[in-house]
Amino acid sequence: MEKRVFGNTGVSVPVIGQGTWQMEDDDAEGAVRTLRAGLDLGLTHLDTAELYGQGRVEEALVSRAIEGRRDEVFLVSKVMPSNATRKGTVTACERSLRRLRTDRLDCYLLHWPGSHPLADTVAAFEQLVKDGKIRSWGVSNFAVDELEEVLSLAGPGRIACNQVLYHLEERAIEHTVVPWCEAEGVAVVAYSPFGNGHFPAPSSAGGKVLASIAQAHGATPYQVALQFLVRRPSTFAIPKASDARHMRDNASAASLTLTPEDLRRIDAAFPRGDEPDSLPVI
Ligand code: NAP
Repeated sequence: MEKRVFGNTGVSVPVIGQGTWQMEDDDAEGAVRTLRAGLDLGLTHLDTAELYGQGRVEEALVSRAIEGRRDEVFLVSKVMPSNATRKGTVTACERSLRRLRTDRLDCYLLHWPGSHPLADTVAAFEQLVKDGKIRSWGVSNFAVDELEEVLSLAGPGRIACNQVLYHLEERAIEHTVVPWCEAEGVAVVAYSPFGNGHFPAPSSAGGKVLASIAQAHGATPYQVALQFLVRRPSTFAIPKASDARHMRDNASAASLTLTPEDLRRIDAAFPRGDEPDSLPVI
């Protein structure tokens, strides 16, 4: 599994990880088995959140997936903006740690910008780092002006990542968010890399391009899409797969090499479009 340094953390993290949103709706035994099998294949970046299943995903699925193998995992969770006061962030983190049955997170994110002062959330994150409860912290769904605010509060080198919506049909972050993150050494983590299951249909023009590139490499269109998203040195992707065949497909995407011509064809089939006024979120 290809790894790269995760933002400013100095930690090498696999370019493809595993998401867990909406996993509470899937068969629990199967989902846990798939997550653990994913760890075996090197998909050790596990993304979760207190929001997912209102804590059930952390408690009933991710905690079991990491049981006995915590040191292999780069574990990420998120605090909800409504909890992100100075005290509330610390309490939310402690609740997540209890549910996950671990003593630390590798990265802790503010799930999206909210109404509590960012200075308080940042102060809480730094306190959690000092107390050894988190190894690093970052944000999610932050546009450049919001990233600038966090940078001015925290100073350079403190924001580990920005987790953002990024898939073939939603490339808005390429305009300014990705360049900003690359300049500041912030990892870009692509969430919903398959459009939350709305993948280009095989009969669509874009679907046909993906199929033809996939066929030339003995790969699948999903693998081609993932490899396109992680083509830059700052980017990671966290597809969610409860189906073990999907998970294996995603794990193998890391070893696919797209040619410059493949990249050009994908770029033409899924144009990034103009920069929208606000950052798209799911
Ligand atoms: P996604 O990864 O874009 O798509 C998941 C869907 O694709 C599932 O239906 C899955 O099916 C299917 N799938 C996965 N791999 C496949 C493959 N190789 N071939 C065919 N189908 C495949 O959806 P997502 O859950 O929205 O995003 C991924 C993760 O990003 C989330 O789980 C969450 O951890 C994170 N996220 C973060 C935010 C945020 O605000 N920070 C927002 C949304 C998501 P099966 O499950 O049946 O295998």
